[in-house]
Amino acid sequence: MPDMKLIFELYEGTLRQGPGNAASTRRAFTMLPGLGKRPRILDVGCGSGAQTHDLAQLTRGSVVAVDIHLPFLRALKSSIAAGPSHFGQIFPVAASMMSLPFKDGAFDLIWSEGAMYIMGFAAGLRSWRRLLLPGAGLVVSEATWLRDDPPAELRDFWAAVYPAMTTTAANLATAQAEGYEPLGHFVLPESAWLEEYYAPLEERLSRFRDEHAGNAEAEALVHETEREISFYRRFFAWYGYVFYILRKTA
Ligand code: SAH
Repeated sequence: MPDMKLIFELYEGTLRQGPGNAASTRRAFTMLPGLGKRPRILDVGCGSGAQTHDLAQLTRGSVVAVDIHLPFLRALKSSIAAGPSHFGQIFPVAASMMSLPFKDGAFDLIWSEGAMYIMGFAAGLRSWRRLLLPGAGLVVSEATWLRDDPPAELRDFWAAVYPAMTTTAANLATAQAEGYEPLGHFVLPESAWLEEYYAPLEERLSRFRDEHAGNAEAEALVHETEREISFYRRFFAWYGYVFYILRKTA
């Protein structure tokens, strides 16, 4: 596993740190019934804030955006300062998703794109639940098996990267077991990986390679990332990111 510092550095200066796009954020948002006019939203693992901006655009509520990596939060802060006025509803907070520093029932909606896997799907659902009042929403995008017959090469890849990755049905069952009602789900389109995430990342990779010429660890990270991208191109039918739109039950 390459040094975390190198991993963070690679993703600094990219627009997104995971697959996603504005249309999918909007689609998931509109699947939530009964959000008030000014919902209090918590965006967990916000990164440099691609979806944070989209959320601020979709609502007149507030968006508290949490990440552990300060350079991502700094990028988010400067985009707030330079951006349109509704970005003023965004409040960046440096904290860990493992111990979120907010009161019980503090939010009407928790949002998390491509980040909950860091603590695990079930663990995240369980530990964040107290932050929501009954009926409040939780929307998460999570790497998910779309077919149960992956080629061995692909199975081995994910066994190393995210062994807990499972199927949509299993995640929906977990959500119910953890006290959430599933309101809907959908698979992120391929463009959200290839155009919005991997294309800018590939550009970044070539600069990163030059910046770290001769550094074996950096080269290994470049190689690993290219391998990840090539896996998606070959095997996108077998896995993807699924958006889960959930509501806390009583
Ligand atoms: N939501 C963003 C970023 C996803 S990448 C997007 O879709 O573009 C995952 C993010 O989780 C990174 O920004 C990383 O810094 C953050 N992260 C990693 N560990 C964390 C932790 N313990 N607490 C909060 N955020 C964390």
